[in-house]
Amino acid sequence: MSLSSEKSGIKVRRKVRESRFCFQTRSQIDVLDDGYKWRKYGQKVVKNSLHPRSYYRCTHNNCKVKKKVERLSEDCQMVITTYEGRHIHPPCEDSNSVEPKCFHSF
Ligand SMILES: [Zn+2]
Repeated sequence: MSLSSEKSGIKVRRKVRESRFCFQTRSQIDVLDDGYKWRKYGQKVVKNSLHPRSYYRCTHNNCKVKKKVERLSEDCQMVITTYEGRHIHPPCEDSNSVEPKCFHSF
């Protein structure tokens, strides 16, 4: 049994930070089609803003990605979307694809 006491001066800061991603879009639509499916779970009135902030959550099982959507009060054409977290799955393919059924051959 070897006791290897490694005395490295490296301190690993383990700050689990959820990856955040924020961008602005000029759009009429609040919820941009980003390939994922979202369910609205909340809305909050923002002070000094004419527009409420909407909260969405990814509908995929076990996926905890959230997004916030709000509009700029100065420019109601501008939508600010903030994503929190990372999807654990590929985006839903935009299709009405019928799952291929297995053919049972008897
Ligand atoms: Zn997701």
